[in-house]
Amino acid sequence: MSDPKYRALGLDRPIDRRDFLGGVALGAAALVAGPARGSAAARAEPAAPGLPPDRPDLADDYPPLRTGLRGQHAGSFEDAHRARDGEFAGAIAVDDETGERYDLVVVGAGISGLAAAHFYRRMLGDDQKVLILDNHDDFGGHAKRNEFRHRGRVYLAAGGTLDIDTPYFPYSYTAKALLGELGVDVASYRRHLGESLYQGLTNGVFFDRAHFAADGLVAGYGSRPWPQFFGAAPASARVRAELTRLHTAKVDYWPGLDAVQTAERLRHISYRTFLLEHARLDPAALPFFFGHAYRNNKRIDTCPALEAARDGSPGFAGMRIDDEPVVEPEFFFHFPDGNATIARLLTNRLVPAAWPGPLDMESVVTAPVDYGRLDQPANATRLRLNSTVIRVQHDGTAEQARSVSVIYIRGGRRCRVQGRNVVLACHNNIIRHLVPDLPEAQRTALAYASKVPMQYTNVLLRNWRAWQRLGVHSVLAPNGYHTQLELVPPVSLGNYAFARSADEPVVLHMIRNPNRPGLPRKEQQRLGRAEMLTTSFEQIELAVREQLARILAPGGFDPAADILAVTVNRWPHGYAYTYDTLGDPDFADHLQPHVVGRQRFGRISIANADAGAAAFTNVAIDQAERAVHDLLAGRRWV
Ligand SMILES: Cc1cc2nc3c(=O)[nH]c(=O)nc-3n(C[C@H](O)[C@H](O)[C@H](O)COP(=O)(O)OP(=O)(O)OC[C@H]3O[C@@H](n4cnc5c(N)ncnc54)[C@H](O)[C@@H]3O)c2cc1C
Repeated sequence: MSDPKYRALGLDRPIDRRDFLGGVALGAAALVAGPARGSAAARAEPAAPGLPPDRPDLADDYPPLRTGLRGQHAGSFEDAHRARDGEFAGAIAVDDETGERYDLVVVGAGISGLAAAHFYRRMLGDDQKVLILDNHDDFGGHAKRNEFRHRGRVYLAAGGTLDIDTPYFPYSYTAKALLGELGVDVASYRRHLGESLYQGLTNGVFFDRAHFAADGLVAGYGSRPWPQFFGAAPASARVRAELTRLHTAKVDYWPGLDAVQTAERLRHISYRTFLLEHARLDPAALPFFFGHAYRNNKRIDTCPALEAARDGSPGFAGMRIDDEPVVEPEFFFHFPDGNATIARLLTNRLVPAAWPGPLDMESVVTAPVDYGRLDQPANATRLRLNSTVIRVQHDGTAEQARSVSVIYIRGGRRCRVQGRNVVLACHNNIIRHLVPDLPEAQRTALAYASKVPMQYTNVLLRNWRAWQRLGVHSVLAPNGYHTQLELVPPVSLGNYAFARSADEPVVLHMIRNPNRPGLPRKEQQRLGRAEMLTTSFEQIELAVREQLARILAPGGFDPAADILAVTVNRWPHGYAYTYDTLGDPDFADHLQPHVVGRQRFGRISIANADAGAAAFTNVAIDQAERAVHDLLAGRRWV
């Protein structure tokens, strides 16, 4: 209470500095304890659209409104980690023989699991009995909705999956058809986007005193002429000149190579190596690139230079490089809660009893969902949350069994259900710990990938006047705790109305990629995951407040007054792993680990984005369809 520093940041009690030593026990304890009194998470007003304002307690049953540590929240992962650690090896004593039998049991209520249930019903009929199990308190997996309420108004943000987007390959017929069936009109995006709201605002870069000459925000990244932009940077004359040269020079560093040879060479060196050894960038300028997340959130040291070149990174303007075609640049949509809208539309079709009626892409945005009705016996499809599956095993041999037992833990009790078929739409890494009799080669293949740790922090701001004064709507902070900050896109949809001026509240989206440059890619990611599990909400909230004060104070930002609520979405198991030309062998197509790993095993098939080795919504949908098809069309012995 007495420390003015914490009061100035808006924290009404100092956070114990010992928290920052990162001790496992301390962090884990803080994590379980939840948000501290006085923290922004605790202050968020609990209520939900469609819920009466005088019944804030109803928010207890409405997970999107929960603030503090979300994403892979406390209570969702511990049993899975116990399964990983072999605690459930051998026979499992079941507390509750539910006697429930389903045509299909789906493990994972992410977009892939929900889509698998949908496709199964499309193929066999809506009367099929389906159970979907998920370890979280909300459905959607990565496609997570964050909701805030302030003075009776609702503010939405994506807690994970942001956009319908196709940066590297197009949506398949299947994925487009599903969006069409759900009533998503991607082409209508510009009608819902209030493009003029941020007019005149630009991207900015925050140069920090530890890596440059002083702290300072420079607006106009990518829009001002480079000499002007870097000329304004608080950095040494040498660094300013180097960054300007890199962004403006048109030099072919390998004049003896043709476009194909150049691409081949770039494929096998990192962007960091290219910058230092070929573009001859002064190492003092390198921190400018530290926070950049390249494809699949790789860093400059793990990103193949070819990927950096193809994504428009500086340094390649004079080089002839064999190109890859740009794919459907206009196929883009951002819902106010990101692709959680797709998950909501899917559950609206799968479990209509939980919704007020049939919904379209506009009416779904503010429609209330009754979580208490997702798992009723009368539903043909039941969605059971807070249920971590620890065993999936044929009742007999994989070749001859007529059913599969699925054991999950819910509220500390081990429960068993049976399915005629099972789709595992969870993560590849856990599957081998759930299915004990999987062939060894498949187990090894499933263990190959390493999920990418990611953190999306959403902050409800009282207003965004400071941003307007500083002339930015987004900021890159290459060496910051969060490396990317952006006011969410001004989308109004259905009854959901975005702010009309800088005086109104808005959600700020902050991105942290906690991988550790300098190590092999998978090791960076492993350490990032470990960091996330030992970092408390209080530590993150303090980091948010300090970072925003540092960047925005020159625009009049006051963290004590301007931060209304904070929701941190932790995704230690974030993006599906994609192969790269630096760290992965050049597998033959049919020997790629995700292809070997996703083979049907008796009555069990495998969906999820990992099975497509690409972290995209369309891939999750495609893999769902393939997995259902594997079950129904590929079973020779039926
Ligand atoms: C932060 C973030 C941002 C992204 N942004 C985009 C984007 O803008 N556009 C895009 O196209 N893609 C994006 N992606 C990728 C996209 O979200 C995924 O490809 C897709 O949603 C994955 O869906 P899924 O169903 O395969 O997996 P998930 O969404 O991970 O769902 C799997 C579910 O299974 C659950 N589960 C796991 N183990 C068990 C168990 N033992 N028992 C019960 N349940 C279990 C998981 O916890 C999870 O809820 C993003 C991903 C992340 C993490």
